[in-house]
Amino acid sequence: MRILVTNDDGVHADGLFALQKALRQLGDVIVAAPERPQSSTGHAITLHKPLRLTPVSLRDGTPAFASNGTPSDCATLGILEAAGGEIDLVVSGINHGANLGWDVHYSGTAAAAIEATIIGKPSFAISVVESETDWTWDAAAAFAVKLASWLVSHPLPAHTMLNVNVPNLPESQIQGVAATTQGRRQYVDRVERRNDPLGRPYFWLGGSLAEEERTAERGTDVRAIAEGKIAVTPIQLDMTAYSFLETLKDWEH
Ligand code: MN
Repeated sequence: MRILVTNDDGVHADGLFALQKALRQLGDVIVAAPERPQSSTGHAITLHKPLRLTPVSLRDGTPAFASNGTPSDCATLGILEAAGGEIDLVVSGINHGANLGWDVHYSGTAAAAIEATIIGKPSFAISVVESETDWTWDAAAAFAVKLASWLVSHPLPAHTMLNVNVPNLPESQIQGVAATTQGRRQYVDRVERRNDPLGRPYFWLGGSLAEEERTAERGTDVRAIAEGKIAVTPIQLDMTAYSFLETLKDWEH
């Protein structure tokens, strides 16, 4: 098996290191990831400057490629250039932080996996959901190996990727695995306005979650995580709202 590992936190991130190390149990692993952190860059691609793939060493000397491109660029360059198109699976992560519900639209981690799907390679994104404690990568890395192995006998449908979120818990405390839908994750109070020393306003984007995670709708990724489970959500490229299509067709314009 030949696996490409990428992420949006940068080639030297702890989550990527744990992921690529674990996946080596399954075969050859090629790492191509952004040279700098690029969280929340979504599905941006680079069209107006030269892209590089620079050989670098991970902390234990493992060879990898760092790119000045976006996570999506890294998926493209990793598959088509670093691996010469010979890739069986693309895994993006392990992201430092949740990519739950609507986060997928902002996520560079998810975008890299989606780009792989567009290129025609099976892929999944995997994230550990932040908590009060220090990061723990073991459960997510072990689950990535398990999922990658399962996908060999259960191929993903075309134009579909998996978005995986893992609680920040030791493996022994994880409460199982749930197949989930995308929950809502809406942020409120998104803009914080401050004044700079010259009295001019500047803004920080952020905000807090609109919805309490423990009472999120059953069956969603948000709820599964609140219950200590690993959430696996199938994501499709087709975002058509079929439920509204008939109304739109009936419009006598
Ligand atoms: Mn990230």
